[in-house]
Amino acid sequence: MKIENYIRDIQDFPKEGILFKDITSLLNDPIARKECLSILVTSLNGQPIDKVVGAESRGFFFGMLLAQELNAGFVPVRKPKKLPYSTISASYDLEYGTDTLEIHTDAIQKGDRVLIHDDVLATGGTAKALGELVEKLGGEIIQFNFLMELSFLNGRNKIEGHPIFAAITY
Ligand code: AMP
Repeated sequence: MKIENYIRDIQDFPKEGILFKDITSLLNDPIARKECLSILVTSLNGQPIDKVVGAESRGFFFGMLLAQELNAGFVPVRKPKKLPYSTISASYDLEYGTDTLEIHTDAIQKGDRVLIHDDVLATGGTAKALGELVEKLGGEIIQFNFLMELSFLNGRNKIEGHPIFAAITY
């Protein structure tokens, strides 16, 4: 099975010039979903994971499946003012302006072995902010993993020094 076949390209969404990689067609197919999860889990080579960190919102889907499969905790990283308990935040640059992500201060303990997951690695700003949050709380980043990497945007340069895995590379 080719999981690429379950990713749908949507031209000019959410704005002109962007080719949006839609994973809803993958989520909607249990066999493709299972295959994709298996690819992501296999990439870890059996390394133990304490926490899976998933980025709002499309990082939640496979982030939670990964946490379940790896017998790890799941930690949602969210947009500002969504998490109810005490948080720390990290900001990153967008094309115009900046964006911020937050994590609960007690979600990761010092020395926790952390897998960071999101659906797409594009410019790498989101992933870099996720990494900063994890390291601020004393977590050890075991791997960044993604369903897709848009390699022409060189996002991996922003998170170099850590293992990076993508199930599909464009
Ligand atoms: P970036 O911070 O530029 O690496 O962008 C990554 C975030 O934006 C991820 O959370 C993705 O969900 C989303 N994203 C960026 N580009 C795309 C794309 N072409 N298709 C779908 N999602 C994207």
